[in-house]
Amino acid sequence: EGFRYEQEVEHFLQKAVKEDLFEVYYQPVYSIKNKDFITLEALSRLKHPALGMIPPDVFIGIAEKQGMISAVGCLQLHKVCRFIKEHEYIMKKIRNVKFNLSPSELMKPGYSHVLIGIIQEYGLDPGYFQFEITENVATEYSESFCTAIDDFAEVGIHMCLDDFGSGYSSLNTLKDLLFNEVKIDRKFLGDSLTENTQIVLQEVFHMLKRMGKSIVCEGVETKEIAEFLKAEGCDEIQGFLYYRPMCQKDFETLLHI
Ligand code: C2E
Ligand code: CA
Ligand code: CA
Repeated sequence: EGFRYEQEVEHFLQKAVKEDLFEVYYQPVYSIKNKDFITLEALSRLKHPALGMIPPDVFIGIAEKQGMISAVGCLQLHKVCRFIKEHEYIMKKIRNVKFNLSPSELMKPGYSHVLIGIIQEYGLDPGYFQFEITENVATEYSESFCTAIDDFAEVGIHMCLDDFGSGYSSLNTLKDLLFNEVKIDRKFLGDSLTENTQIVLQEVFHMLKRMGKSIVCEGVETKEIAEFLKAEGCDEIQGFLYYRPMCQKDFETLLHI
């Protein structure tokens, strides 16, 4: 059954790329210093007519395997740019937009210029974007990967290391300073903080601060965790406690409140 589901998604994905059936949801991210949200993360959504919403973890993984991830990434970046361009007041309130990239996208030589080109096509400042990357088993810090990150830095795009503390993220990545921001993995925080989790977080925050990194914690659902993070010097909190990812319309409504 799982196999059939995957095959169906695979098939649908091709249609979705051809007909641009994806949607972008936005999740505001709360800034502790500003006591308000000042950034947001763009998250992709895809609805199948019979299967319903396909989780992004699933269709992104399949798109990566099928070599379609750059096509999906470009479609979504166009959508985000169009949205900002059509509602320029957003830029007064929101300092930057976090956009997810798969490491495999950056291994393609020249792809960084495609992404920068899309942003510039809309007359937007590339510095308004922050790209998030999750390290995975396939992440190669190849020459084209590092060149891409340099290209982004040159036009002011900041990089965020996503899901830090999960599977493959390594201290080497931090040491080499490729990322300006680090996002602690949601699974690491869990539902309540054990004493050991608190100790690890305190030490990791201390280390990241000394390296001048900005710290985001995601998946925060309880007040207790948020209070701990505030006290320990976390910069931004992303989680259902504050905001859930929402469709474009709901986000516009939120901005007008
Ligand atoms: P991510 O980049 O780690 O994104 C954060 C995920 O955590 C989102 O899941 C978000 O809905 C969820 N989340 C946020 N706050 C909470 C919370 O308080 N509790 C819980 N339980 N979850 C929370 P989502 O939207 O299902 O996305 C899953 C993953 O799919 C993303 O994880 C990202 O790795 C990937 N993804 C989504 N859109 C894109 C895209 O356009 N491109 C690429 N390459 N990957 C994407
Ligand atoms: Ca992310
Ligand atoms: Ca994450």
